[in-house]
Amino acid sequence: MTSNNQPEVNIGLVGHVDHGKTTLVQALSGEWTDQHSEEMKRGISIRLGYADATFRRCPEGEEPEAFTVSERCEDHDVDTDHLRTVSFVDAPGHETLMATMLSGAAIMDGAVLVVSATEPVPQAQTEEHLSALDIIGIDNIVIAQNKVDLVDEERAMQNYEQIEEFVEGTVAEGAPVVPISAGQEANIDLLIDAIEREIPTPERDPDADARMMVARSFDINRPGTTYEDLLGGVLGGSLVAGELEVDDELELRPGREVEEGGKTEWRPVETDVRSLQSGGDFVDQVTPGGLLGVGTGLDPSITKGDALAGQVAGPPGSLPPTHEQFVMDVDLLERIVGDDGGEVEEISTGEPLMLTIGTATTVGSVTSARGGECEVALKRPVCAEAGAKIAINRRVGTRWRLIGVGTLRE
Ligand code: GDP
Ligand code: MG
Repeated sequence: MTSNNQPEVNIGLVGHVDHGKTTLVQALSGEWTDQHSEEMKRGISIRLGYADATFRRCPEGEEPEAFTVSERCEDHDVDTDHLRTVSFVDAPGHETLMATMLSGAAIMDGAVLVVSATEPVPQAQTEEHLSALDIIGIDNIVIAQNKVDLVDEERAMQNYEQIEEFVEGTVAEGAPVVPISAGQEANIDLLIDAIEREIPTPERDPDADARMMVARSFDINRPGTTYEDLLGGVLGGSLVAGELEVDDELELRPGREVEEGGKTEWRPVETDVRSLQSGGDFVDQVTPGGLLGVGTGLDPSITKGDALAGQVAGPPGSLPPTHEQFVMDVDLLERIVGDDGGEVEEISTGEPLMLTIGTATTVGSVTSARGGECEVALKRPVCAEAGAKIAINRRVGTRWRLIGVGTLRE
């Protein structure tokens, strides 16, 4: 392999359940993101799936046909050139999993909105996911009109017009709509072309302090591993600033809940970087972009089962404060998005809200609400900077629904 396979940009795959997100990730990367057996059983991507894809170009071909994910161009009988490696975050489309989608949105640099040509537009999560992109502020969007192999030209055109009408006035207005068949791997070249143009690699400051958003955490040891052979806890997530190297010291916030003298409090955790995995390889150093795995010196019982998901990691002393309560400026949507959406009522004192900040999702109880401002006490604290965007969800019937966006006050 001559080229660097470390991903440099994160692209979310969003859209309604069964519209073809996971199939598209597979067509682009040759990997299947539905790896959990539980996910297989339920047929949905419960956790955010990750898969890297390397976009390549045939040196002899014309664009856009020259774009490919293959290492060989059969038409011209030559090896293809490496353009860049991207990481796909395959968000679940199932209606109850909005929180997972929102925490994924915090690490997306752009998104591909997958819309099936076989159904009227918009379906519930097509609309809800687009609102989430709007709220999180992701405006580098490509729309993949999928499953065009299942409809005739007339229906494809009608569907295309519905898509155009639906995105009018949203962040996705003006986004290219690329007709594809993920299942038959048709027009993938056109889709890569659109992604290359619409979702550029963001500029990064290499001198900034490292800042990692932790989306997952694991214990990778097999049951029964003896103490001497235990490997430290592993963090999965995305570096959003700076660089990270093996042997770097790392602080995690909020850290752990510690009980002492009958009182409990959250304390930051410190460790060091033992190994780094990016783009499927072990590396000595990582730069922002893509999803990475960080082997740490932490006791794996601390990282087991996503226990540290939602936390923030960086050099000791560099992280934003931990909040057990905060005040936010609130901007409510007019209507709840989705099929049965009604008007969004004002937030009232005492009501529970589900808040997503970065990769953290926490339930908060409103301690005071007036005008465009609201104070909440959190069940689980979060580490976040003033100005951070907060997705606000309210319980409506049996599920949490997105009702607006908050901005963390000083
Ligand atoms: P997700 O819920 O958005 O991740 O959707 P999946 O990728 O799991 O796809 C849902 C179903 O649609 C699966 O049975 C796929 O095989 C099928 N599918 C996905 N893309 C296409 C396509 O382009 N053409 C056809 N005919 N079927 C597709
Ligand atoms: Mg899926």
